[in-house]
Amino acid sequence: MRAISIGYHDIVDEGQRPPNDGSRHSGRYKLDRGHFRAHIDSIWRSVGHASVHVIDRARRWQGEVPLFLTFDDGAVSSYTCVAGELEQRGWRGHFFVTTDWTARPGFLDPRQIRELHARGHVIGSHSCSHPARMSKLSWEELLKEWKESCAILSDILQEPVVTASVADGYYSRKVGKAAAAAGIQVLFTSEPSAKVSNVDGCLILGRYSIQSHTPASVSGAIAARNRWPRLRQAILWQAKKPVKALAGESYFTIRRLLLSRGIASGN
Ligand SMILES: [Zn+2]
Repeated sequence: MRAISIGYHDIVDEGQRPPNDGSRHSGRYKLDRGHFRAHIDSIWRSVGHASVHVIDRARRWQGEVPLFLTFDDGAVSSYTCVAGELEQRGWRGHFFVTTDWTARPGFLDPRQIRELHARGHVIGSHSCSHPARMSKLSWEELLKEWKESCAILSDILQEPVVTASVADGYYSRKVGKAAAAAGIQVLFTSEPSAKVSNVDGCLILGRYSIQSHTPASVSGAIAARNRWPRLRQAILWQAKKPVKALAGESYFTIRRLLLSRGIASGN
């Protein structure tokens, strides 16, 4: 199976880009509201109404490659901006909530989470604490991150939460196996790939990430299944892998430092 999933984060009002609002993706992934609308319009022009899906309603598919739109971190803009923009076009999205941040300033509260769910959007886990590097956590730590965050969200929604996305993009097979062991059935990573795999019964889906500088046309081209923008992300991703592996912790420290200064791109 294949699927095209596009990953967004927070949407902010024009010119408002807080340097440190508690999320780990300060700056690089935040889109201005107008820019976000341009991305969504670009997708609309590319694929129209029928092609955007939610995975809760289509866990298995054949033939047409579905398109999923995802939003990480649980920012309040999911409620105040994104959901409305999607609904105007007849679409629904996937909102992944970092449960330790719930109800903090700038993040969704339980009432908003319930309402988004009632309006047909998928609510999923983005871990409890948004660990800086999930793949480095022990098995017990991973289980705790997945189980507790899903339990909190299930309690808010009064139904099982079985969808999640990996915090900070550090996926490993162990991260997927722990998600499956915690009852998660669908896990979105940050690997720029359309391939869908299966780890212990949990579907693993890659995503194409959108950053603040990404032109709106890229969302439309990815949604239209064009190969170029997807290949470009895949090549950059593969190129970074050996650097990460070689530099180990120092790569990680340097990246954090650069991210905090808004210089580097993260995941
Ligand atoms: Zn995140």
